[in-house]
Amino acid sequence: MRWRALTAASTFALAVGCGPHGESNLTAYLQTYQSRWDGVATLPDWTVRVVAERPTQGAQQGKFFAGETFWDSRTIDLYQGSLSVLPHEVHHVALGPPSADHQGWCPFGDWEAREGILDELGYLGCPE
Ligand SMILES: [Zn+2]
Repeated sequence: MRWRALTAASTFALAVGCGPHGESNLTAYLQTYQSRWDGVATLPDWTVRVVAERPTQGAQQGKFFAGETFWDSRTIDLYQGSLSVLPHEVHHVALGPPSADHQGWCPFGDWEAREGILDELGYLGCPE
């Protein structure tokens, strides 16, 4: 799995290398994810881009939105202020494209909350 950090001026075009701090955070999130969940054997083929601006494609008003998984290009975009959403996006990779509707994700949301990663039970439509 590759990490890339991108500048604000050219969010998607200019790779400026990995920030050491952000990269270690991402590695920690990934290791935490893999300690509990399976199915990410394809992850080495994916690229994670840390973007300076919040992605807006697919965003819905009032909905949490800090990352996006692009199946065709095997790319995950993460907003630099929301690196904790990495396990969420990796879970999409593990489950495949049908996971876009987050059906059956409450155990995952419970795990995220328990680990102190992210509380998105409301977003996932789960009891809090
Ligand atoms: Zn999602």
